[in-house]
Amino acid sequence: MTASSAPASSYKDTLNLLQTPFSMRANAKVREPEIQAFWAELQLYERLSQQNPGESFTLHDGPPYANGALHVGHALNKILKDIINKTALLQGKRARFIPGWDCHGLPIELKVLQGLKSSERAELTPVSLRQKAHAYALEQVEGQKAGFRRWGIWADWDQPYLTLQKSYEAAQIGVFGAMVLAGHIYRGLKPVHWSPSSRTALAEAELEYPDGHTSPSVYAAFPAVQLPEALAGQLSAAGLKPEAAIAEGGLAVAIWTTTPWTLPANLAVSVNERLDYAICSVAARSDATTPAVSHLVVAAELRESLETSLGLALTPLLSVKGADLEGIVYRHPLLERTSKVVIGGDYITTEAGTGLVHTAPGHGVDDFNTGKKYGLPVLCPVDEAGNLTAEAGPFAGTNVLKDANPTILEALEATGLLLKQERYEHRYPYDWRTKKPTIFRATEQWFASVEGFRAAALEAIAQVEWLPASGRNRIEAMVSERGDWCISRQRTWGVPIPVFYHRQTGEVLLNQATLDHIQGLIAEHGADVWWERDEAGLLPEAYAAEANQWRKGTDTMDVWFDSGSSWAGVLGGISGGESRAPELHYPADLYLEGSDQHRGWFQSSLLTSVAVNGHAPYKRVLTHGFTLDEKGRKMSKSLGNVVDPAVLVEGGKNEKQEPAYGADVLRLWVSSVDYSADVPLGPGIVKQLADVYRKVRNTARYLLGNLHDFNPATDAVPYAELPLLDQWMLQRTAALIDSVSADFERFEFYRFFQALQNFCVVDLSNVYLDIAKDRLYVSGAEEFRRRSCQTVLALVVERLAGLIAPVLCHMAEDIWQNLPYAVAERSVFERGWPTAPNEWRQPALEQPMDRILELRSLVNRQLESCRSGGQLGASLEAQVQLELSEGSEATAAALDWLESSAHPGVDNLADWLLVSTLQQGDSAPAEVLAEASEAGITVRIAKAGGEKCERCWHYETDIGTHLSHPTLCGRCVAVLS
Ligand SMILES: [Zn+2]
Repeated sequence: MTASSAPASSYKDTLNLLQTPFSMRANAKVREPEIQAFWAELQLYERLSQQNPGESFTLHDGPPYANGALHVGHALNKILKDIINKTALLQGKRARFIPGWDCHGLPIELKVLQGLKSSERAELTPVSLRQKAHAYALEQVEGQKAGFRRWGIWADWDQPYLTLQKSYEAAQIGVFGAMVLAGHIYRGLKPVHWSPSSRTALAEAELEYPDGHTSPSVYAAFPAVQLPEALAGQLSAAGLKPEAAIAEGGLAVAIWTTTPWTLPANLAVSVNERLDYAICSVAARSDATTPAVSHLVVAAELRESLETSLGLALTPLLSVKGADLEGIVYRHPLLERTSKVVIGGDYITTEAGTGLVHTAPGHGVDDFNTGKKYGLPVLCPVDEAGNLTAEAGPFAGTNVLKDANPTILEALEATGLLLKQERYEHRYPYDWRTKKPTIFRATEQWFASVEGFRAAALEAIAQVEWLPASGRNRIEAMVSERGDWCISRQRTWGVPIPVFYHRQTGEVLLNQATLDHIQGLIAEHGADVWWERDEAGLLPEAYAAEANQWRKGTDTMDVWFDSGSSWAGVLGGISGGESRAPELHYPADLYLEGSDQHRGWFQSSLLTSVAVNGHAPYKRVLTHGFTLDEKGRKMSKSLGNVVDPAVLVEGGKNEKQEPAYGADVLRLWVSSVDYSADVPLGPGIVKQLADVYRKVRNTARYLLGNLHDFNPATDAVPYAELPLLDQWMLQRTAALIDSVSADFERFEFYRFFQALQNFCVVDLSNVYLDIAKDRLYVSGAEEFRRRSCQTVLALVVERLAGLIAPVLCHMAEDIWQNLPYAVAERSVFERGWPTAPNEWRQPALEQPMDRILELRSLVNRQLESCRSGGQLGASLEAQVQLELSEGSEATAAALDWLESSAHPGVDNLADWLLVSTLQQGDSAPAEVLAEASEAGITVRIAKAGGEKCERCWHYETDIGTHLSHPTLCGRCVAVLS
């Protein structure tokens, strides 16, 4: 009502207080989507990625599988990519990012099948199954896409690449066709990883090796029926009667197997020609059953351990080389046939077993290769469901995962030729989907002959930059050791292997004409056409007359062939191919995926690209580790340690317990981890990240809040006229820009994370802004000491926004939208990557400043001890006396530097120490509250003289001398007048 309201509060109103609509709370759930809508309205990503002035940059997206909800692994992957892309966009590059999805394959096919009633299943045709799988995949894509967008990922979301798109499938057929015509594709009977539970061949990448698998470990004797002459001679010379031994069925080779169900397929016993073998007499020890053989052949090195494990006395009578054993004829212990001992290879060792290897060419890769050398048939008496066939004689109908092993072992035991059986725990491949054991089974399959281009692939690997460098060793080892790539699958939901078989002869029809024709059909109609049409509708004109002689194949391609063809389907890296966007190039600048992709996508992409074009599809490959919980364990529902990124971003059901942290906190996590190893995430880490996020946000808010009455165009102070403190702050800012630029160049975002915190907490909050409070609040609004500080705040806040933009994109934009003065750019992303004028780079300022900051922390510790002792309240109640003696020369020089400043109103030690009075030298104050000495510097704290100014809280001796304002100091009186 009157002018008599409390004067104290009216002085408070004369301070320059913070004003900004930029809120302390992020309110991310509302604000982040608003900011994303703003970007969409500006068409920011589209314009920058297509119209930026710089070079194009292609980070080619590895397609996630279109099934299931997004997890933190997706977040790590896609956000890393987005940080890199946003940085490139800020740097003026045309970083077009076409996101992809892997849409074919067994898991989706199974999902569809599981969702059907049995009556529906019965009516299912390949085409209707494919339509359902297609719809399911698209639905999954939309769900995942919404999640990615919510994280602030920029991409061509409306034009993603999907491996089920017609153009993509056609390009994939193009890759396959080019490999066929180059002679890299063949059909053969070969043992492949086979899953009886899903009745299909599996790729390496579809296998997993769970702990705790046990198999029966079986030792058996295969009786010799005929010996090579040389060996017989050696035996005679050693006093043995070979003819007699054989006649009595007493000489046998000892073998070891963990897959007894393969015994009916045994066609040889292999030895290592270079190993020593012992021919031993056999006697049962105490409680063991006497075997039906009198002599056994075993590797000499294993004889002693076999004595123990078999419970037999094995007395060596003769030592021979493996090569001497070649040609022994033995009879199959269970079936009416004989086979021979053959020379295997160095895969036969003395690490386990007997040194003589049971060989079934239809059920093992080494066995297959050895059999090939000796012209053995690829016998495979097991059908696709894992049931033994008639070729297995009396064991037909038993199942390899169920009753085949016990039935065969029982029969073997009855012959007296079973030497030993026990359980054996070892690594064994399981079907990654059904979680059931797989087997090796020979089937007719299509293969890419890696042998044909292995050298070129290794050469291509050498040309690529692998980050980290160990990635090169990984993929190099895998490619040099891998066998041919089985690319056919016996499933419906995929891209067909476009081949025809002659109905009578089985002859294969696969040539340029058929490939081109089918590629054209698929480009027009999609791969469904393969199932929709009969042979007449699929064969080119030239074959029309004989169409009824041909039968189309039913195999689809390994999904790794799908995604491994993306360089063709998306980047247009095949002759006649077209890239999805003009900014994309092949080879890509960068592939970035989890480190398991050396075995998966990095490799399948490399192999197809090398086979067709002779070089890798990428120039650089960056890998990241996997996400674990805070204790380093895998995340799993059963452990209850899963961090759901959707809950982290949008909050849980109970927002008190699970607050909505927003996408920026998720993104900040990605930037914070050293992703070259596995990375942890859990509630404790999220809380810490939220603290860091708040710290950055509050720092930005403080900067913005002090700029409400500042217009750089009219109020800014030129650099050369700035006080030393301000120039130092800009030197720190330049140093931050330089280091963060280098960190981003090396993709070492965790260094950025550390540097950002250090900048906000130490350089800004603890030092610059702490000292600046008085300049900002107490000074007259337009005083030099305030305008110079605001000049720095404006320069810093704009650059801070730019530096955090790749990671904290929403916050950066929020800052930009709340700049209280006009800027040319509507978005922080239009400003470009922050730079610092060269004059800011004054490393010479750091040295004296460091000395003064050390002094400041010494003083602060003393002030703190006074405060905690109750002797002092605010630091402005204090005066400080300084004494410099020997050893403090650097500090003395720093103080001289400070004193030489042209702006003592800003650059003075008392203000920097936040005390009212500073005294150098002279006599100690009368009543010293605290005292400390360090490196020649003595600091004494005492109460400041004078009285507290009601407005600025400084203790001054002139309080009461100003009639108009008896409670204020002269400085404040001047500001008010
Ligand atoms: Zn004052």
